[in-house]
Amino acid sequence: MNDPGEAVETRVFERDGYRCRNCGESDQDANSLEPYAIDDRATPESLVTTCTSCHALLSGGVPAWRRTVVTDVEGGLFSLLKTVTGTQGTAVGDVAGFATETTAGIDGDARDRYRADRRQIRLALRVVERHLTALETICEESGYPARARQNNGTVDDSGESLPPPELGRLLGPSLATVSELATTLQAHLQQVMSLAETAVVADGHCHVCLEPIEVESTVDGPNASRPCPSCRNPIRPVDEWIDEDGAIALAPLYRAISTELEDASETTSRLTEHSGTLAEALVE
Ligand SMILES: [Zn+2]
Ligand SMILES: [Zn+2]
Repeated sequence: MNDPGEAVETRVFERDGYRCRNCGESDQDANSLEPYAIDDRATPESLVTTCTSCHALLSGGVPAWRRTVVTDVEGGLFSLLKTVTGTQGTAVGDVAGFATETTAGIDGDARDRYRADRRQIRLALRVVERHLTALETICEESGYPARARQNNGTVDDSGESLPPPELGRLLGPSLATVSELATTLQAHLQQVMSLAETAVVADGHCHVCLEPIEVESTVDGPNASRPCPSCRNPIRPVDEWIDEDGAIALAPLYRAISTELEDASETTSRLTEHSGTLAEALVE
C-alpha cells in the first residue's frame, strides 16, 4: 500500500467520524486510528478508518481468541464463533443490499452510498478472512483427528502455542464443519461483491471511484485488468460477460449474482445450525 499522506488521512478520519469502522472504537484525537486500504491504491474511496488493534489484525496479526484458546479452549472458541457469526451475519444482509442497489443503477445519492457500503463490506470480509485463516490453522494443527495427542505445548509456525489436545478430540469434527461452511459462505459473499462491481464496470464506471471509463474487451485476454485513469486501481475485467456482438450481456451477469446470493443464503442456514450446536457444546 502506498502512503496516503496526512491530508488524505485526516479527511478519511473525518468522514468516518473518528471511529474504527470495524469495532466502533472512537478516538477524536486520532492517536489510535490508522487508515486501511481495501484496494491496491490508497485513494480516499479505498481507505477506511480502523483502530490500531483492528489494523494489526487486518495486516496479518493473530486474532485475540487464537491466544485465549491456548489456555481456555471453550472461551476462545466461543469468542471466535461470536465474532465470525456476527460479522458474517451482518455481511450477508449488507452484500445482498449492495447487489440490489448496484444492479439498480448508481446515480446521484447512490454514488456515495455505493462507495461507503463497498468499503464497509470489503472491510468486514477482510476481517472474517483473518479469523477464518486462523480457524483453519487451528483445525489442521489441533489434530482433527490424527494429531490430537501430539500437540501438548508445542509451538506452531506463527509462534503461538497450540491448543490442548481435547480440542481435537471433542470439538474437532464440529469445528471443522463450521470452518468449512463459514469458508464457503465467505467465498459466495466475495463472489457477489466481485460480480456487483463488475456490473458497475459494465455500466461504464470504475468500480472503486465511479469515474467514467471506457468499457472494452481487453486484448490481453480474459481477466487482464487495466488501471482506472482516475484512481489507478485495476478495473474489474468484463470479458467474461461480452456476447458475440461485442455487447455486455447483463442478464447472465445478474443471474449469476442471484445464484450466488441463493447459495449464500442456503449456506447461512446450515452454518447457523452448526454454529448453534457447537456453541451449545462449548457452554456446557
Ligand atoms: Zn477497531
Ligand atoms: Zn477509479
